[in-house]
Amino acid sequence: MSTVALITGAASGIGAAVARRLSSRGVRCVLVDLDGEGVERLAKEVDGAWLAADVSSEEASQEAVALAESRYGRLDLVHLNAGITGRVDFAEFDLARYRKVVGVNVDGVVFGVQASVPLLARSGGGAIVATASLAGLVAFAGDPIYTMTKHAVVGLVRALAEPLAAQNIRISAVCPGFTDTPLVAEAREMFVNAGFPLLAAGDVAAAVESAFYADTPGTLLIVQPGRQPVPYRYSG
Ligand code: NAD
Repeated sequence: MSTVALITGAASGIGAAVARRLSSRGVRCVLVDLDGEGVERLAKEVDGAWLAADVSSEEASQEAVALAESRYGRLDLVHLNAGITGRVDFAEFDLARYRKVVGVNVDGVVFGVQASVPLLARSGGGAIVATASLAGLVAFAGDPIYTMTKHAVVGLVRALAEPLAAQNIRISAVCPGFTDTPLVAEAREMFVNAGFPLLAAGDVAAAVESAFYADTPGTLLIVQPGRQPVPYRYSG
């Protein structure tokens, strides 16, 4: 029986790299993204199922899990990865933008966990990995609301590790540094000119895969250029 994975934010960057990596190992993938054309294209490439949906809606997460069940009959791995940058300026506060960032980066993860746990449990257990960020562990002063949302993801993962372990579900977060994807396209030239090393999406995908198969109930993995992913341990 094949392993089945659900990946959000799968049309681009890190999510697409995870889809390609897992499918090359024979994992059947259910791909979710706001970008319908992109996700359909990738689903054709990896012979997976796809859903064009906004992860900040609770129904979308339920629909994605229902698709995994109807198409493949089970669910083993969940990568809650869809995310957007903050860019909320406190001086000219844009409430709609604020709600959108929290909706995608936080609600999208909460709804993804809530929707997927019952099917993971019915499938005998499995693993959830959220894409947080180094900004989930340290302050990224350039984007306070993004920092806040990624800290929220890290907090959720830490708090859920023990209760989910009782259902044989591991939950982890990967915390990458700057990664060469469309998300950071605007800042890319600045990074390159400054000689600042960027991760490739494939580096993060490898870390996501290792977090899926970690033998701890949950882990936070720091991913930085040129280094093996290291678990982050809180002193408290
Ligand atoms: P990306 O922009 O290449 O990919 C993000 C994908 O998410 C896109 O395909 C986009 O269409 C999709 N998406 C956006 N909003 C969505 C929504 N509401 N519902 C469904 N899909 C939605 O970016 P990426 O760098 O691959 O980012 C993936 C994750 O990695 C994000 O959570 C991001 O915060 C995190 N991250 C990125 C970096 C980086 O430097 N690129 C560093 C640390 C963490």
